[in-house]
Amino acid sequence: MIKQGIFLLLLSALSLGAQAQQIFSTNTYPLVDFRPPLDIVPPALAGSFGELRPNHFHSGIDFRTNQREGYPVYAIADGYVSRLRVQNSGFGQALYINHPNGYTSVYGHLSRFAPKIAQQVKALEYAKKTFELDEFPAGDLLPVHKGDIIAYSGNRGSSGGPHLHFEIRDTKTENTINPQLFGIQIPDHIPPVIYSLYAYKLNKKPFSEYTPKQYFQVTGTNGKYRLSAVNKITISGETGFGITTTDKHDGNSGTNGVYSIELEADGKTIFTSSMERFAFDNSKAINSHIDYPTFLTTKRSIQKSFVDPGNPLQIYSNLVNSGRIELNDQQLHEFKYIVTDSKGNKSILPFTVQSDGKDVINTPDQPAGILFSYAKDNELSTDAVKVVLPKGTLYNDFNFVYKVKPKPASGAYSAIYQIHNNLTPLHTGFNLWIKADASLGNLKDKAVIVSTGGSSQGGVYEDGYVKATPRNFGSFYIAVDTVAPSIIPLNISDGKNMAGIFRMNFKIRDNLSGIKSFNGYIDGNWVLMEFDTKTATLWHTFDELTTKGRHQLKLVVVDMKENTRTYSITFYK
Ligand SMILES: [Zn+2]
Repeated sequence: MIKQGIFLLLLSALSLGAQAQQIFSTNTYPLVDFRPPLDIVPPALAGSFGELRPNHFHSGIDFRTNQREGYPVYAIADGYVSRLRVQNSGFGQALYINHPNGYTSVYGHLSRFAPKIAQQVKALEYAKKTFELDEFPAGDLLPVHKGDIIAYSGNRGSSGGPHLHFEIRDTKTENTINPQLFGIQIPDHIPPVIYSLYAYKLNKKPFSEYTPKQYFQVTGTNGKYRLSAVNKITISGETGFGITTTDKHDGNSGTNGVYSIELEADGKTIFTSSMERFAFDNSKAINSHIDYPTFLTTKRSIQKSFVDPGNPLQIYSNLVNSGRIELNDQQLHEFKYIVTDSKGNKSILPFTVQSDGKDVINTPDQPAGILFSYAKDNELSTDAVKVVLPKGTLYNDFNFVYKVKPKPASGAYSAIYQIHNNLTPLHTGFNLWIKADASLGNLKDKAVIVSTGGSSQGGVYEDGYVKATPRNFGSFYIAVDTVAPSIIPLNISDGKNMAGIFRMNFKIRDNLSGIKSFNGYIDGNWVLMEFDTKTATLWHTFDELTTKGRHQLKLVVVDMKENTRTYSITFYK
């Protein structure tokens, strides 16, 4: 047995030596402290660390669970439960464990917790009379040992199918780190795929939707790629490059993200991005990392190899002139993209670049507007509208465009204000005040700012204005929410005998401002109602407290504007 073990180890070391190489990382991490969080073999990932998602980088790895829920989830090492989180969306039900080596493991979308933890969660929910929970238990309350079953995998929260979302974070900074750097083995012998190359005519201007770009088709397999339609790329003036690329692992793997992208010019690295670790606060800067206008209009994620000045991500290194390229001769220059996955499998795309010798070229200017700068606070103020963007909201300078448009025919309490357009990404929300018409009258408390797409941005009435913090630019006006949420009972009705039925189910929805709270009472006592935003499902699982006999149920659902719906019935158990 022992001999065979050693032999297998040697064999895998040999095959690793042939296939995988060192990947770029700025820190070293413990390689043997952690066991995998699941016992499914071989492990397969539906999502990799840092993979490109709408408005964020994926903060962990998604283990496939054979399209089923309920696989045991194990503590990856000794430690203690440091955070218990229950949410309507997000991770749904999640568990955090602090380990003595300075790292925290996170397990998300769980179907249920192990009994001792579940008991604690339910007690806290009843004590606080709330379903959503974010608790930080003391170190001695819920200790765990490596390999203990802590929970069962699920599909709760914003999850598109059963899987385990798993993270390893630096306990002190809360930076999330690629779990594959900790010796968690995901079989992978397949190098990344490179689909296309783009050349951007930056021309010393900030990147925007007006930056011209040229597409180059890429062909190749198994790590070796080349441009398929041209022998060389001719550039004019200052240029930036970008590529589209994804990765696959062995076996039952989805299309995942790559680990690092390096760009070399004449043998010298001028740009590296790598998915080693990042801060959650910076995750939205994915919209600066990619060509965001192209993503919004075509859903294609081009990863740029030049860095916007307001991009706070710390995934970049070896930058020369922020990745912006100028050639001061008309010689042929050898460029090379090197794309690496988390296992060290590499794909190479060499290409030749030549300048046409023109320094100054004509590229379109952004339409005239007010110059907003990434490096400072920006503000626009008229007597009808005020826009404030604190420093840190923008990735680039741009010309801010503002227009007033006619008020919608009905349901509006202001004109429409076009606040630039959604192709310019924002790192955080911005503050927007819109002056309300006199007709708002006594509906002040019901006022919200809505986008012309119809979605509520929230809103608070202040001194004749409604204030909100939209996350994106767009066109906005004031509307009111006077309609209470709807409650649709699915398996219960007045007078029904619920004997033998283990839970009661409802759908609850709100038309505009969104659901603020839900509370259920049986015979006047608060009971736990659980909610799942993605399916709009609200439910209560009966327990021993609902005894045989006649009971009163009251369910109260309130929206953000305090419109209240109450559902009251009698039922039998
Ligand atoms: Zn995930």
